[in-house]
Amino acid sequence: MSQVLSISNLKANVAGQEILKGLNLEVPQGEVHAIMGPNGSGKSTLAKVMAGHEDYEVTAGGITMNGEDLLAMEIDERSRAGFFLAFQYPLEIPGVSIANFIRAARQARLQKGDELDAVAFYKEMYGKMDELKIDRSFTGRAVNEGFSGGEKKRLEILQMMMLEPKYAVLDETDSGLDIDALKIVADGVNAMRSPERGFLVITHYQRLLDYIVPDVVHVLYKGEIIKTGGKELALELEDKGYDWVIQEFADQEVAVGV
Ligand code: ADP
Ligand code: MG
Repeated sequence: MSQVLSISNLKANVAGQEILKGLNLEVPQGEVHAIMGPNGSGKSTLAKVMAGHEDYEVTAGGITMNGEDLLAMEIDERSRAGFFLAFQYPLEIPGVSIANFIRAARQARLQKGDELDAVAFYKEMYGKMDELKIDRSFTGRAVNEGFSGGEKKRLEILQMMMLEPKYAVLDETDSGLDIDALKIVADGVNAMRSPERGFLVITHYQRLLDYIVPDVVHVLYKGEIIKTGGKELALELEDKGYDWVIQEFADQEVAVGV
């Protein structure tokens, strides 16, 4: 079975409006792909469709993860199968501590009847919190409650590190981060790069890609991938904006008579 996260001809509606309009994308294990695009292109919609958000209705196409039908799975199954999404806007979960939240997610990955080793779990989590410069006192705090933007984003990365997904989608994890926090987050992601894992890094700005250097860069515009290139494409977009890519795509469509 091919080891790839594969999205084919994906169409999806939100609030009765088509946002994804036949999107094709392949992220092989071991690679880091970036998605860039103007605001409102459908980047977060793609991320939420992959995660199984109930507001988003898939009307055509499919997504497979290492050959498995992702869209056929319940949300928790997707997670246990190795899919992870770091949210652009992480939600607060009052009353649920970070430690209990992550512990429950880890416990859910064990065979029935197996108990998580609490001592080993805390040792591992504290080590990862230290790497991300999250104070250890945060374990007792409710998930995201009263957190700064940067603290929320670092907690998303802590969850990713603890769950060790096969494929991780990071939706604008750079937004709200100052440069020091950005480097910490990028170090965390880079440490997890492996031949067994694929990343889809969604970002509006090139800056993050200075630290998490992608193998491939895609441009998403109005619900379609309109250009794919190497890491230098991100620099070109930073320099020249999106208009030329949009124009180039429009010219192509004219040429093929769409
Ligand atoms: P991006 O992440 O690229 O900025 P989004 O995927 O968030 O774009 O949004 C794409 C379009 O879908 C926008 O026009 C946005 O207003 C619309 N949209 C996204 N989510 C919802 C929703 N829950 N309800 C209504 N419209 C939505
Ligand atoms: Mg978004």
